[in-house]
Amino acid sequence: MAAAGVCGPTPLVFRLHEGAPELVREVLLERGWEEYDEQGQEEGGWNLYWRTSAFHNSDYENILPWQRLNHHPKTVGITRKDCLARNLKRMRGTFGSGLYNFSPTTFILPNDYTRFLAEYTKHRLKNGGRSGYWICKPVDLSRGRGIFIFEDIRDLVYDSSVIVQRYISNPLLISGYKFDLRIYVCVKSFKPLIIYMHQEGMVRFATEKYNLTSLDNLYSHLTNTSINKFGPFYTTDKERVGQGCKWTMSKFRCFLHSQGINELFLWQKINSIVTLTLLTIAPSVPSSPNSVELFGFDILIDAKYKPWLLEVNYSPALTIDCQVDVTVKKVLLNDLVDLMNYKSMDSVRQRGYLKQKYKRPCYLGSQSLRSPVLPKSMCEHHPGNKKSHSIHSTFSDSMRYFPSVEMNRIRTTRNSISNTKHSALNPILIPHSKTAAVTGNRKTHPVLSQMTEAIQWSEASDIEPEFDDRNLSTRVSPWQASRQPAGGCCKLPAIHIQKYKTPKFPWDPKSQDKSTPPLRVGDFILTFPFNEVTLKASWDKLNIKTAVHEVHKLIGQLASGCSHKQKRGMEDELDRCKEKKDFGSLFWGPTNPPLLSECHLSN
Ligand code: ADP
Repeated sequence: MAAAGVCGPTPLVFRLHEGAPELVREVLLERGWEEYDEQGQEEGGWNLYWRTSAFHNSDYENILPWQRLNHHPKTVGITRKDCLARNLKRMRGTFGSGLYNFSPTTFILPNDYTRFLAEYTKHRLKNGGRSGYWICKPVDLSRGRGIFIFEDIRDLVYDSSVIVQRYISNPLLISGYKFDLRIYVCVKSFKPLIIYMHQEGMVRFATEKYNLTSLDNLYSHLTNTSINKFGPFYTTDKERVGQGCKWTMSKFRCFLHSQGINELFLWQKINSIVTLTLLTIAPSVPSSPNSVELFGFDILIDAKYKPWLLEVNYSPALTIDCQVDVTVKKVLLNDLVDLMNYKSMDSVRQRGYLKQKYKRPCYLGSQSLRSPVLPKSMCEHHPGNKKSHSIHSTFSDSMRYFPSVEMNRIRTTRNSISNTKHSALNPILIPHSKTAAVTGNRKTHPVLSQMTEAIQWSEASDIEPEFDDRNLSTRVSPWQASRQPAGGCCKLPAIHIQKYKTPKFPWDPKSQDKSTPPLRVGDFILTFPFNEVTLKASWDKLNIKTAVHEVHKLIGQLASGCSHKQKRGMEDELDRCKEKKDFGSLFWGPTNPPLLSECHLSN
């Protein structure tokens, strides 16, 4: 492990929980990160904690400004099959089944058994004794485990909580093979709701031809890789599908082009499914701005090109089984880390907090959400230091809550840093000591000016070396440098710092940064908010009604645009969106990169 540099930032540090994907380690090491060493490094000396399972509440409560977590709290409302069914049903009740019509009819058994029986019987009577096809899935299992398909209710046998769902029996097939889409979605924040969709998802094929006369052939009906990679035809070169069971999304788009399909409309419908699904839980997810989460949405397209939501995966698989996995998942992870918006300051970690014993809090930036809370252990009195003692007694509570770091606002030059009176102070503070942002802060947060005074009491031994201003920007890895589009469109707003419980520090909501999030970060495209109305709605205590209404309106507009069945119609629609100052992100980025429809895809 490289020693912490005396000058400038040290490498960012990741912490992997047991069972975290090896690819995460590989990608982060390639980016120059170091792995956290529980024994050798200080508590809190990490920047990203990656868990496949959920974090504890205390992990959210004790988050520090330089740290990120890879899950938001309480998202089970969409990631467990029964909770998703319940939430979608609730939304259907509120907003109508015309909009929330993208999930197959579902019953949660055993509770809904009577209702299921009634539905089953109704279908049988209507269809001359045939009830149609149903699929039964355990509520809390994944990777196709425990799933079976049935037609006759006598074949429905279960010994745990399950969902029984209408089986989409007319899937779109490619050369006779069933497939579904794995769409990667990053929720950068729930409050405000900020959603990105990755352009390069995956298509997952069944490895035997679709056949409704053999319902128990899982290789024909399920598209899980975990199942199909053990199928007898996995390595066979299958007609059009090829070997294995995966395509990249780009290859699928080529297929759509070859079929003359209006993919823009299809993608927009998928966008809407993602947004409407996330809206079901958004109000109940506690704010945790240092969390960024990747979800895997499984979408099945039927023969009429209607997309159906099958499920939302918590911790979507990041294992590598084939070349497609390498192509898709490495880029995906790199883009995800870019979305986490690390800055050079983050690598300083506790050098700013621990070495200076909480006297020099990170109080930068004027337009922040609520502030983080330092762990109590970090707010203990500094023995033998009366001044710090008095600081503690004066600001004992409020000093635990610090406004966020807003690195993108830094303008200070190296010279101006070295010329300041406090040039040798904590590097976290230096760049801001002369900025208007700090002046603004002092007005907004009276406690800050007192804290600034406290800085002057620090002893020489606490002093941090000068910080190289070349690093005072959003942290750019060699990976980013090679991928960043010209024009610096990846300059991101800071990850705001906020704690899980409501902080006590007075917080002025009017001072929040309500600017538009970047439209694109790598291959992640902003899909929500998508216009000024939804931007406002997402800030406005997340006005669900308005957000849902806008999505509805949009689908309607696109549908009418599409009814011309002319590409021209879509372009007009795009122009209309531009005129109305909509972000255009619906179209997967208006100019940079080129519109999806303008992409010339090679096979
Ligand atoms: P798991 O979490 O076990 O992967 P899914 O709900 O994703 O469970 O289902 C596994 C697979 O079963 C899907 O990838 C899809 O191929 C198929 N499947 C699931 N639900 C349906 C459905 N309602 N209609 C058609 N196929 C389905």
